[in-house]
Amino acid sequence: MDITNKKHIALISVHGDPAVEIGKEEAGGQNVYVRHVGEALAHQGWHVDMFTRASSAEQPKIVEHGPHCRTIRLSAGPEAFVPRDEIFGYAGTFVNELLKFQQETGIQYPLVHTNYWISSWVGMQLKKHQPLKQVHTYHSLGAVKYKSITTIPMIATTRLSVEKTVLETAERIVATSPQEQEHMRSLVSTKGNIDIIPCGTDIQRFGSIDKQAARAALGIDSDAIVVFYVGRFDERKGIETLVRAVGQSQFRDNEKLRLVIGGGSRPGQSDGKERDRIEGIVAELGLSNITSFPGRLGDTTLPAYYAAADVCVVPSHYEPFGLVAIEAMASGTPVVASDVGGLQFTVVPEQTGLLAPAKDEAAFAAAIDRIISNPEWRNQLGAAARTRVESKFSWDGVAHQLSDLYTTLLEKPALEKPAKVLAQASA
Ligand code: UDP
Repeated sequence: MDITNKKHIALISVHGDPAVEIGKEEAGGQNVYVRHVGEALAHQGWHVDMFTRASSAEQPKIVEHGPHCRTIRLSAGPEAFVPRDEIFGYAGTFVNELLKFQQETGIQYPLVHTNYWISSWVGMQLKKHQPLKQVHTYHSLGAVKYKSITTIPMIATTRLSVEKTVLETAERIVATSPQEQEHMRSLVSTKGNIDIIPCGTDIQRFGSIDKQAARAALGIDSDAIVVFYVGRFDERKGIETLVRAVGQSQFRDNEKLRLVIGGGSRPGQSDGKERDRIEGIVAELGLSNITSFPGRLGDTTLPAYYAAADVCVVPSHYEPFGLVAIEAMASGTPVVASDVGGLQFTVVPEQTGLLAPAKDEAAFAAAIDRIISNPEWRNQLGAAARTRVESKFSWDGVAHQLSDLYTTLLEKPALEKPAKVLAQASA
């Protein structure tokens, strides 16, 4: 048995299940990233196993996405929804279950690509047991997040220390934008190896339908003015800024104006509370008659909404990357986004959309108005946005870059005593 089969790799995403429906609860960009990277790598010849935590007893333990790509759900903690900050308590069990899986199947992964800090810890523990190359993508940095919130959670100290250790010890860190790399260097550590490989998007799926066909399919008037948001309901997504911006838009009394706020929520969950809060602001501003909340947007409806929109707004307080921006751009729709993080990398102001200071509703209103008041320019921005995504952000292109990175790392000799090095690093 060849236990070091170089084509077997593991993507580890303890809290972001790549096989679930996106847009609900805490499922978002990380789930999409892992799933698409996994599938694209499998097309390029890798045997990809994506490990996540089982979060429901009804879910199958193994989901096959294609001949060499599957999601494997390990039992670690209750088989129920557990908020992100509480999952770390089950990470040790996750490591043991992964080791058991390797033993039972005879597969020993020579490389793991970990996602988010909890999984980075899992990767570092595995290294104590076997020769292993670790690639890590943060998806979110505690050092950035904790600067913007008032109540710092109990887990913060652990998270910050794990994030520093993985930066300094992983064979490679993947930053998804130059801005994220800069934050790692200025806020986490000057040590460690970082490559920039962006997130990607499905350029066949997004851009497959034109604006009028999309509007007809969705029952939106052909001459409506559509301002669109999609994403999780989380205060840090800045939906309030968008709603207040529309409230002060010069188009607010135009009967053609429509505000569509897409994304799922579950009653009783925290995103449900944010949704209630947003609905309250919509009502307070007298925008209820022009605003709709279509809920979670799935495989076929999401590309249609992007295409139907005149402008897509990404008002996040911070984004390390921000998939929604490139999905809209792939659909030929210009983006008005916060001037933060990865959005400064994906959106080129005046060419594919506009940037506005985060939380600045007047600046958002002005940017939205500039685009919707000039349909010809709007179309030029949309066409340039599509071109930018095709050349820089397709999943196949992203997976090629990752594949080259894995190959290079696997060709290098393994550390002789990984356990010792790690023990020192985390001491
Ligand atoms: N998404 C979706 N349907 C929804 C809401 C969100 O498919 O109803 C997807 C969206 O298309 C994107 C991801 O969820 O691919 C959100 O990723 P992003 O990086 O924008 O934000 P995150 O959720 O990671 O903060």
